[in-house]
Amino acid sequence: MKIGVLGVQGDIREHVETLRSMGVDVEIVKKSEQLDEIDGLIIPGGESTTISKLMKFAGLWDVLKDMVSKGFPVFGTCAGMIVLSKRVTNNPSQETLGVIDIDVERNAYGRQVNSFEVDLEIKGVDVPIRGVFIRAPRIVRMGSEVEVLAVHNGTPVFVRQGKIMVASFHPELSGSSHVHRIFLETMR
Ligand code: GLN
Repeated sequence: MKIGVLGVQGDIREHVETLRSMGVDVEIVKKSEQLDEIDGLIIPGGESTTISKLMKFAGLWDVLKDMVSKGFPVFGTCAGMIVLSKRVTNNPSQETLGVIDIDVERNAYGRQVNSFEVDLEIKGVDVPIRGVFIRAPRIVRMGSEVEVLAVHNGTPVFVRQGKIMVASFHPELSGSSHVHRIFLETMR
C-alpha cells in the first residue's frame, strides 16, 4: 500500500514524515499520472486558493474529482478540508471539489495570531490528541451521510463520509500518528 501526499503547496513534509514513521510507503504527488500509483491521497494544510489553482495547473483537479467520486480515499487537513468541501461560505466564493457534503467558513477561528492548540477526544482513540488550529476552517453545515469523529466547542472538527475524511486541525503537527492510522483504516 502506498499513500500520496499532494505536493503542490502547504505542510507536505510533516505528513510525509508522519506516514514514514508509521512504516507507510509515501509518494509526493505533483502530476496526475502519479494518482495511478497510490491507494489514497492526503491534501495538506496551506492556502486552499493556491492549492486549488496549482492542482488545476497540474491537471490534477478533474482527475481527482472523478476518482474520489468513485470511491478513491482522500484525507484533507485544514486547507485540504476546504478543497474537498461542497461549498465555501466566504466572499469571494471559490471553487471546490465538492466531494464531501459539508459547507465551511474559511479562517473562522481568527487570524494567524489566534491559532490555538486543544486536546481533542477522537472516536476510536483512547488518548487525547493535540489539535493544532491555524486559521482553520469551521464546518457550518453537514449532510446526514457525514459521520462525526471529533468535536470542539460543539462544532465538528473531524468528520468522514465514506472514504473521504477531513479535519479542521493539523494532525501532522500533533506529534502522534493516531489520526493518520484512522485514515489507513478508512481506506480498507
Ligand atoms: N486559512 C487557510 C485557507 O483558507 C487554511 C489554513 C491552513 O491550512 N492552516 O485556505
